[in-house]
Amino acid sequence: MRQISEPARQVDVVFETDVIVVGSGPGGLAAALAAARAGVDVALVERFGCFGGNITAVGVEGFAWYRHEATIEAGGIGREFEDRAKDMGAAVPESQSLSYELDSEGFKLVADRLVEEAGIHPMLHRQFVAPVMDGDRIVGIITESKAGREAILGKMVIDATGDADVAHRAGAPTRMTPRETMMAASVMFHLAGVDKTAFMEGIKSDPQTYRDWGGGGEWTIETSGKEDEMFSPFIKKPFERAIQEGLIPAHLNTIAGTWGALHDTGELTYMNLVHLDAVDGTDPDSLTKGEIEGRRQTMLAIEALRRFMPGCEGARLRNFGMTIGIRDTRKIDAAYNMTETDVREQGRFEDSIGIYPEFIDGYGILILPTTGRYMQLPYRAMLPKRVKGLLVAGRSTGGDRIAHAATRNMSCCAVVGQGAGVAAAKAVKSNRDVGEVDLTAVQGELKRQGVRID
Ligand SMILES: Cc1cc2nc3c(=O)[nH]c(=O)nc-3n(C[C@H](O)[C@H](O)[C@H](O)COP(=O)(O)OP(=O)(O)OC[C@H]3O[C@@H](n4cnc5c(N)ncnc54)[C@H](O)[C@@H]3O)c2cc1C
Repeated sequence: MRQISEPARQVDVVFETDVIVVGSGPGGLAAALAAARAGVDVALVERFGCFGGNITAVGVEGFAWYRHEATIEAGGIGREFEDRAKDMGAAVPESQSLSYELDSEGFKLVADRLVEEAGIHPMLHRQFVAPVMDGDRIVGIITESKAGREAILGKMVIDATGDADVAHRAGAPTRMTPRETMMAASVMFHLAGVDKTAFMEGIKSDPQTYRDWGGGGEWTIETSGKEDEMFSPFIKKPFERAIQEGLIPAHLNTIAGTWGALHDTGELTYMNLVHLDAVDGTDPDSLTKGEIEGRRQTMLAIEALRRFMPGCEGARLRNFGMTIGIRDTRKIDAAYNMTETDVREQGRFEDSIGIYPEFIDGYGILILPTTGRYMQLPYRAMLPKRVKGLLVAGRSTGGDRIAHAATRNMSCCAVVGQGAGVAAAKAVKSNRDVGEVDLTAVQGELKRQGVRID
C-alpha cells in the first residue's frame, strides 16, 4: 500500500483530570459514574453526540431480558440504569422477563442526568485517535473533532470503546475472533404504525419459544434444556413465508430474531432481525458495506412483516439505529482471561469486583439464569498487558469466546465498568498504578456503592 508521512505537530491540552473514560456505553458510563462517586475528577469522552453506547446509538433496549424470579445479580449502577429509566418514563416492562426495557431515545436523557448529577466533565463529539504515552504508561489521549486534534491528560485511563481502541493503539496485545466465526453484526430498526391489539393476538395465538431460535436454516442453538419451552418474542415465520413467496431471496434465511417493546402508540422497537456475517467493526470498508446491506435487508424484513405478520399491515420504518450494531471485535489479552468453564461453572475469584448471573448468549448458546447460579468477575480481566495506567472495561475485557457470550451483555459490562471506575479512583487517590491497587479497598468501595461481589 502507498504511504505518506504526516508532519509532527503541537497539540493543545484542552483538559486535565484524574480519570479519563473513553466510550460511554454501559461499561464506560458505569465506570465514569463509579469513579466520580468514589471522589475523583472524571472526563467522559464519546465520539457520538449522546452517552449510552449501544443502548442509544444502536437501539439495543433489552438490558436485562434474562431476569427471572431466581436470578441473582450484582445490583449497583446497572440496576440504577433501569430504575432511573423507569422513573424518567424511559422504560417499559419487557415481554419475556422480570425486567424493564430501556427506551433508546429516552435513555439519552437518563444518561445526561446521571452524568450531570455525578459532576462528570462531559466531552461528546470527540473520537479517541491516539494515546499520549510516557514510556509504557498512558498519561492521556488525543482526540479528533470539529476542533481538530486535542489532547486530554489524566492520571488513569479507562478504555470502554468496546473495541479496545485505546489498549490496541497503546501497544497492549489484543485478539479478534476470525471474521468467519465472529458474532453477526446487526442493523437495528424501529417501526411505527403497528396495530398493538392485532399484533398481540397474533403472538398469543402462535407463541414462540427459545427452542424456535434453532428452527433450521442458518439458526442453531444450544440451551440447557430448561429454556426450550419458555416464551420468546421471536419472529421467523413471516420471513420463511416471504422466502416461499419469492419476496426475500432464499439465502437471506438469516432474517429472523426478536422484537422488543410494543407501545400503545403503535411503535414496535428494538427489531433485532437483520444479521450480517463477517462484518469487521474495526474496518471502515467492512462497516460501510454492512450499513448499506443491513438497510437493504431491513426493508425486505419490513415488507415481509407488512404482508405476513398480524398487526403490521400499516407498519412503516420509524428509524434505523444511528450506527450498525457490532457485537464482536478486539479483546485484550489480560492479566487473567476468563474461560468457558468460569462462565458455565460459576467461577469464583479472590479479586471479584462483582457477580453476574449464569446468562450465556452468543456463538449459538443460550442459557438463562433461572436457577440462581452465578459467576464472579475477576478484576484482572480488565488489566491489559504491557501498558500501565490503563483499565479496559465493557465488552473487550480478557476472555475466550464462550466467556464473552456472558460478559458482552450490557448489564455485565455495567458491573465490570463500575469495578474499573472504582479501581481507577482508588489508584489515583493512593498514588499507585491500577496494577497494584489495594483490592480490599476497591471491594469495600464497591460494596458501599451497592454492588454484590460475593
Ligand atoms: C444488535 C445488537 C443486539 C444486542 N442485544 C443485546 C441484548 O439484548 N442484551 C444485552 O445485554 N446485550 C446485547 N448486545 C450486546 C451489547 O449491546 C454490547 O456488548 C454492549 O453494549 C457493550 O458495552 P460497552 O460499554 O463495552 O460498549 P458499547 O455499548 O459499544 O459502547 C462503546 C462506546 O464507545 C464509543 N466509542 C467507540 N470508539 C470510540 C473512540 N475511538 N473514541 C470515542 N468514543 C468511542 C462508542 O460510540 C460507544 O458509545 C447486543 C449487541 C448488538 C450489536
